[in-house]
This record gives sequence, C-alpha cells and structure tokens, in this order.
Amino acid sequence: MPTHKTRTENAYFLGPKSENAAWFRAEFQSILDQWFDWRRALFGEDPSPIPQDVRLTAEFLAEQEIISQKVHELGVLMTGEVPKYTPRYIGHMVSEQSIPALLGHFATLLHNPNNTSRDVARVSGAVEDEAIAMLAVMIGFDPTKAQGHFTSGGTLANFESVWRARYRMDHFLAMGLCVAEAAGQPFDPVAAAHMGWEKYEQLALAHSIEEADLRAASSVLGNPFDIAARIGAAARREWRGPVLLVPGNKHFSWLKAANVFGLGEEAFWPIDLDVQGRLSLPALSSTIKRAHDAGRPVLAVVSVAGTTEAGEIDPVDAVCDELADWRMSGVDIWHHVDAAWGGFLCSMLGGEAESGLDAHSRRALAAIRRVNSVTLDPHKLGYVPYACGAFIVRDISNYANSSFAAPYIDRAATNDRWMMTLEGSRSGVGAAAIWLTGKTLTFGPDRFGEIMAGTIESRRFFSEALAAGEDMVRVLEPADSNILCFSLARPGERLSEANARTAKVFEGFAADPEFSVSKTVLSRENYGELINAHSGRYGGECDTDSLVLLRCVFMNPFWCNEKIRAALMPHFIARLHAHIN
Ligand SMILES: *Cc1c(COP(=O)(O)O)cnc(C)c1O
Repeated sequence: MPTHKTRTENAYFLGPKSENAAWFRAEFQSILDQWFDWRRALFGEDPSPIPQDVRLTAEFLAEQEIISQKVHELGVLMTGEVPKYTPRYIGHMVSEQSIPALLGHFATLLHNPNNTSRDVARVSGAVEDEAIAMLAVMIGFDPTKAQGHFTSGGTLANFESVWRARYRMDHFLAMGLCVAEAAGQPFDPVAAAHMGWEKYEQLALAHSIEEADLRAASSVLGNPFDIAARIGAAARREWRGPVLLVPGNKHFSWLKAANVFGLGEEAFWPIDLDVQGRLSLPALSSTIKRAHDAGRPVLAVVSVAGTTEAGEIDPVDAVCDELADWRMSGVDIWHHVDAAWGGFLCSMLGGEAESGLDAHSRRALAAIRRVNSVTLDPHKLGYVPYACGAFIVRDISNYANSSFAAPYIDRAATNDRWMMTLEGSRSGVGAAAIWLTGKTLTFGPDRFGEIMAGTIESRRFFSEALAAGEDMVRVLEPADSNILCFSLARPGERLSEANARTAKVFEGFAADPEFSVSKTVLSRENYGELINAHSGRYGGECDTDSLVLLRCVFMNPFWCNEKIRAALMPHFIARLHAHIN
C-alpha cells in the first residue's frame, strides 16, 4: 500500500479544531483591508454620503445594533448546520473547503464580478480563463486549444455538453438534408448526423450550400416538427430523432438533460454495466448499432469518471478506442466524460501519487485528454465552496453553440460569454477559488495529487479496518476511487434480509450524531451483474431487485492522519456494532 507522504493538508485546510485560525483570520483581515483601501483611494475627492456626525446619531447606531444582533443570530442558527468539516462526516460529496479556495472566493465576492461579460468583470473574466487553463492542464488537455467556463455545478456542465453536441449534430443534419434535397437523392440522416466538420466543409463547397439554406433546415433555429417531417420525407423513413447514450450508472442530471433539451426521456438510452458496475464495452458497441439500425443517430456517448453511487470509473480509454474505430469509418460521435466526481483524480497522474490508482483507473483517467468535452465539479473534490462546476472542451471547435456563418469558430474566441453559456449572470468566485488553489497548492501530482492519493488510501484503510472489525461487512468491489460502499450480510443470507439490516443500520447512523454516512440503493435494472457478484461472494441468495448499501465518501483530507484514524476507526466500528444490534 502506498503511504501518504506529504502533509500539505496541514497548511491548506483550517483544521477540525481551527488550528490555522490565527493565520486564516489575518488573511481575511488583509483582504478586507485591501478592499477598504481600494475604495478610499478611488475618487477620494468625492463627498462622503455617510459623514461622521450621521454615523454617531442614535438612530444610526440603533440600526447597526440590530444588524449586529441578527448577524449573531444567523451565526447561532448556523451552528445547527451539518458539520461537514470534520473527518467524522463521510456522508455525501462535501467536506472541508481549502483555505486558498475560501480566500479566493471571498476576495472575489467583495468585488462581485459577473463573468457573463468583460464589461462587468474586467479582471475576473481573465482569471476565469487562467483557471480553466489550469484545470485543462490537470486533465491533460492542451490549454492553448481547450476552452471552457465555470458553471453552477456538474448538472449545468453536463447540460452544456448536450447543448453543444446538439448544435453540432443540427449542423450536420441541416447540411446533409440540403445536399440530399438539392440533388433529389435519398437522405441518410444517421450518416449525415455523424459526418464531422471536414465532410461538412467539403459538402458546403461542393454543393454551394448557403447559410440561409442551412438556417432553414435547422431544427434548432426553425420549427423542429417541420424539419423532422422534411427529414422523414427525404429519408423515406420515419425520423424519430437522435438518442443519448449514458451508462446505467449515470447521475440523474442526464435524464434531466434529455428532458430539458426536448429529446424526450425515451431518447435517453442506458448503456448496460458490466459485473464491476462500469460501462460495458460490448454493450456500448451493440447499443450504437441498435440505434443506427433504428435510424437514430447518437447525439453523444457519455462515460463517467467517478460515479455518484460508488465512485467507479468507466473505461474511458476503451470507449475512446471504440469511438475512434467508428470515426475511422466516417461516424463521428461526440464523447463527453462526466468527471464531476473523479476529474480531480487526474491530478495524481504523472507522479508517484498515481501509484494510488489501479491500472484500470490510471488508463481511464489518462484517456480523458482524448474526449470532446468534460464536466468537472470543483465544489466536490476541488474543495471549493458552492456553487462551482466547470465545463471544458478539448478543442475550441467543440465550444461553438450558435452561429451558422462560421459554425465551429463561432464566438468562442471572444471575451463576452453571455451567448456561449447556458447560464446568464455568472459569479466569478468559483474561478478565483480554483485560480488561487492552482497558484498555491497547484494541481500537480506531488501536491494536489498527493491529497487525492491520501483520500484513496483512506478509503483502503477504512475498508480493511472495517472488514477486520465486523464479520458481516461486505465491501462492494471494485472501489475505483475514494468512495466505499458496503452491505451487512451473514453468509448464505437472502439479499432481502441483508438489505433490511443495512437499511436499519443506516437509520441508526442517521439518528446518531457521532458519524454521518449515506445510503445508496443499486437496482437490478442497471447493476444486475454487480449485485449477483456481490451476493455471490458471501453465498447470498438474490431474492430481490435491489442492493442496499451504506456509502462512505472519503474526501476529508484528514482521514490519512494517523492520529485521526487511530481515534476514529475503533469508534466507528463500535457505533456500527451498536446499530446492528
Ligand atoms: C455530483 C454529480 C453531478 C451533478 O453535479 P451538481 O454539481 O450536483 O450539479 C453529475 N454527475 C456526477 C457523476 C456527479 O457526481
């Protein structure tokens, strides 16, 4: 087992007992002082609307007193909040935020930039570009070619990918339709929908297709029902639109996307999972074929790097290879990686930290550099405050989302993002939090990567200690990252009984302030093989269609501290015993 070497976390997090408080407070104070000075220095000759004699009136002081009281009241209320900073919190995908992230967030919050436009974010817009470039480098993209922006979270970043994949496919279909109609030839919408930009250019030149023709054939710009009828007539086959292929381990944001973009939830086709709960490659291949046989192009293939349920990492590399084969035969399919959870694990690659990953995960994470677009969630493993997601494309040509005149150049290179993002006004705080993290901690393997390696090592340690401390613990395998799922079963027991026990223990933890864990339920519909294998390991009988698991998320950077482990592990096992009995 690799041992966690650096102790970076000691300086980069406040600490469960506010150990770094004095220094942290001074940093906050200096941010405030800079901000005060900045305001005083600018337009110093203007009169003050709040002169001292006003500030000393009783009414004025009374107002301030009320505000003080209410601020205090809110602070007291907040002490009832879920304590997510402590290592005892292993519930959901949230923990302590890093000090650079908090400082970057706070310093920027005071200036309130709106990154929708450089008009109101002269500096913050440039900070965002630099922060996106840092994340691009972390996942292996060439920062001079990559493009992206911060979103409110992973859900919106996933939506951004569907928006762009749909824009691209709409262009290809419009071009194919115009060419076929002009030539009076039968139209193959599946072939057209995957033509790629090169073919698109060739056709535009060869057939002198005008922008106005394309606009008139666009189902995004025009009436989608009219265009569908035209496609159907030209194809001499019913046109039912594209499908979105997402592995069965998907986050529910994908179903929302199918719904929101008007594809209809029917168009959301799950890719079966293998026995390890990861996207199955043969299933991907057969699902693409099935779609094409049904006359349905594939809007995008999604793979997941770090599932929400169990942190599993799909074989992104093998999916890239598969799609490269399709591309060789003229079928260009958009590949998006939902790395909302696992994207930051890419920081481990290229250094000693990567020995913390198994070979499968290393290959998969290293292949993210090959895909069209990626979702990251800095407000998860980036230790950044909410709300901060990120959407990044490998190549700026994939960033386009509106123009017909120069479709893949579009406005991507311009500074004003308001037309390029689903969201309108966007705060600059998340970008600044990542920027400051990148400038201090850095996203390299020996720095941020070591913190990530520590989280994976913590999961391993916990997993082994748990199994040693309680015979009924059945760890879900494999665990690709830092999430541990387990059920509680006796040898040979029926799954329904194990589920009942696991659910009861979860209820016990939910009512117990000592530790926070979460629960996940895997359904046979998506996870059939995995459930069989899991029960098979203790000779269990599968008499029901779901598997109930306790889920522990090891993102708190202090779990790899020896003293913390030594103190908390036996305590956790004792609480587990208490809830079983
Ligand atoms: C968390 C998560 C999302 C959604 O992200 P939000 O920030 O909650 O919108 C999407 N996909 C995966 C895999 C996730 O873990």
